[in-house]
Amino acid sequence: MKIGKESIYNQPAGGFGAVSAYARQLQREAQERGEVLPPPRPLQMGEPDFLTPTHIRKAAIEALERETIPYGPPPGWPWFRELLAEKIRRVNGYHVGVENVVTTMGGTNALQSIFHATVGPGDEVLIPDPCWPVYYTQLLACGATAVPYRLDPANEWLPSVAELEQLVTPRTRMLLINTPGNPTGAVFPRELIADLLAFALRHDLYLLSDECYDQIVFEGEHVSPATLLSAEELEQGHFIGVYTFSKTYAMTGWRVGYAVASKSLIKSITEVLAGSHTNVSLIGQRAAAAALTGPQDCVTTMREAYRRRRNLATRLLKEYDRYIYTPHGAFYALIDVRDRAGRVSRRDNQFALDLLREYNVMIAPGNSFGATSAEFVRISLAASDEDVEYGVRAICEFADK
Ligand code: PMP
Repeated sequence: MKIGKESIYNQPAGGFGAVSAYARQLQREAQERGEVLPPPRPLQMGEPDFLTPTHIRKAAIEALERETIPYGPPPGWPWFRELLAEKIRRVNGYHVGVENVVTTMGGTNALQSIFHATVGPGDEVLIPDPCWPVYYTQLLACGATAVPYRLDPANEWLPSVAELEQLVTPRTRMLLINTPGNPTGAVFPRELIADLLAFALRHDLYLLSDECYDQIVFEGEHVSPATLLSAEELEQGHFIGVYTFSKTYAMTGWRVGYAVASKSLIKSITEVLAGSHTNVSLIGQRAAAAALTGPQDCVTTMREAYRRRRNLATRLLKEYDRYIYTPHGAFYALIDVRDRAGRVSRRDNQFALDLLREYNVMIAPGNSFGATSAEFVRISLAASDEDVEYGVRAICEFADK
């Protein structure tokens, strides 16, 4: 096993696993005492707390009733790829054709197949710190090296191009950016996107842009670096975009996402996909097609719920004097849990484990996402308003103890 032993989930930083395991242990211990523990308040996962909208589910049911479900073309059915290209033009504001898009099993599968198609042993990939930790395991699977660059908590969790310049070596192949960001909720401003694109082009790097939260933005705008490129420049193959239905349409378990790049890169990515997923199920593609062609008010309704909870969380953080920034997108917030003297009283996963035991709230320890967020915890806003309020108050009160 290449990954097994080194996996981020088996490291001390594998906080997600540790918190879930402790929750199961606490339930078991309560059972042994003859007690029933209420389920923990779930502020840990990036999982929308909404049902997939009805018209999307219906499209899947109709497909099952009317069609055989055969093998399909590895990059997705042509009618589906046309809808994806149309979505990119309509929502993301840059021009692509059918051959610039490929269907994947969620953003995760898009990212892994992109890494396999572009980087290998000896190659270095600049990734944000903090970031979604799966990037690390995916790069490990390709034998490439993740080189973290810092997102600055004192500057709304934005990166510095000057620092990126310091990290470039002759082995650097790729810059990965993620905006709106997990775990920060930061949305990179247009000027920064332009600077990051210029940086990638200057050093002849791939610019892998994880835009899985592209439609969950509360203020400002989501700017894809591809909007700053002409169609000819896109074909030069530096830009690769990753998108998903998981977050925008509450379709996490459906496993439908897509990648956008030059025609030639899409061919290479498709080669990788053909040998791994074969194709995304026709049921998933029918459902995702209904998501794109059907009413979009579900997207607004869910976004407004996340915005309301974001407002609630920031108001409470101000009340407890723990506010440092406002997440402008995605559905997460990082909370500084140092004590009033700025000391870390509970290291690594300990804050999350103790909070679970004392308050029955599940959160993600900040060190799961990288060293820069080690003194923070991440809450997900994809939980009920009541759970968000209870959770933020619990975190603030506990951090002050
Ligand atoms: N990128 C980021 C930043 C994420 O947070 C996630 C999911 N948590 C993904 C990609 C992948 O999502 P999915 O595979 O469900 O599309």
